[in-house]
Amino acid sequence: MLRTIIKQLAMIAWTLGLLIQAQSSFSQPDAQPTAQLMVKKVLLIGLDGLMYSYIDDVDDPELDEPTLTHFPKFTLTKAFVGGYLNTASHQISSSGPSWTSILTGTWTDQHGVVSNNGAHAAVPGIFSRLHTRNPALNFGSFSAWSDINTGHLVKDMAFVKRRVDGASRPEELSVDEFVTRAVIEELSDQESDLDFVFLHLDEIDGAGHDCGWCTLYGETLSATDARIGRLLEVISDREQSHSEQWLVMLVADHGHRKGGGHGGDSVVERASFIGVNKPAQMNNLFFEPRPALELSDDEASNGLMGYPGVTSVVPTIMEYLGYPARSEDGFPAPALLSGSGSL
Ligand SMILES: [Zn+2]
Repeated sequence: MLRTIIKQLAMIAWTLGLLIQAQSSFSQPDAQPTAQLMVKKVLLIGLDGLMYSYIDDVDDPELDEPTLTHFPKFTLTKAFVGGYLNTASHQISSSGPSWTSILTGTWTDQHGVVSNNGAHAAVPGIFSRLHTRNPALNFGSFSAWSDINTGHLVKDMAFVKRRVDGASRPEELSVDEFVTRAVIEELSDQESDLDFVFLHLDEIDGAGHDCGWCTLYGETLSATDARIGRLLEVISDREQSHSEQWLVMLVADHGHRKGGGHGGDSVVERASFIGVNKPAQMNNLFFEPRPALELSDDEASNGLMGYPGVTSVVPTIMEYLGYPARSEDGFPAPALLSGSGSL
């Protein structure tokens, strides 16, 4: 009897062993799709001082708009900077407050930056917010205008794995070429594991300050278009070879007056845009402006505030990466990605 039981037990153990073996050999192919799950990543390209009118598909007789190859690959919406006129969120259309808004998802009533004074944002930026949600995420911040990394967003730099400041450029490279090459080099590296990359380009703004809506502005835009092309190429390579899906976003921090300069409340200074390479994922807030906000006496200014604020950028990126904004984040604007359209 005992012998029979032992025999039976041995039989069961043998069968189980076979089963386990079979299980592990079957689990091999199953593991493949899991490993190939698409990883979502974001590249945010900040274009300092780039006017929406230069890249929209309307031919403006006042502007000598160059023919562009890569900007037209993006789907664009007009957007606004400078907060809501005549409210506590109103801020000047200057780089410091605007980039702080773009990278914290808040206006000056929350981030506290009022000028280009290098002041540290009073609220967490996107790097620190994403880190809080998932400490395993990795970030890069490549900024031609160093003040973003050294001042306004400096508290966030603790969470940034790869940081490049324009101030460290070698003499032989222009600042935009320097930071663009750094991003391309980073993303060409097969080992690169950055999940969110911010790149700030500054030379268009420099041209605007030089001469406003001028030939140099158009030429600098063309040179930037070529850089965007090189960036899209490296992104496309990664999407093909790494099972990665990249949301590439474009945004500007302000426009320029006709003769050059910004900081004021005119529509050409407060107009911005948000561009995306994945329009199918965007919601109605991206495609349909809301009614004008009657916050000033100027009809055009009120109409502009019906478009998304640049404060939409952070919640949109968080939503795409799988960390949707929560009410305690206190963002004034919803994400422009599917799912948040009803907010
Ligand atoms: Zn600027």
